[in-house]
Amino acid sequence: MRCKWAKLLLSHYIEQGLDLKRREELARHLQKCPACQSELDRMVATVEIIQSMEDVDLPRDYAEVVRVRLEKG
Ligand SMILES: [Zn+2]
Repeated sequence: MRCKWAKLLLSHYIEQGLDLKRREELARHLQKCPACQSELDRMVATVEIIQSMEDVDLPRDYAEVVRVRLEKG
């Protein structure tokens, strides 16, 4: 998987999740690619900051859901 594609998948991953196959591919890439891993960390951190500062339409446990998905993936 190329980083360009991985980063595209990351945004979908954050927004609405991915199907199992893509999630597995992404997880494999993340294990080998610190750059994309840190990109995901930054996205999750951003979601957490937004949640803590504003009333947005995200569920409160959104970031936690993302984290759990990543661990499972
Ligand atoms: Zn990458």
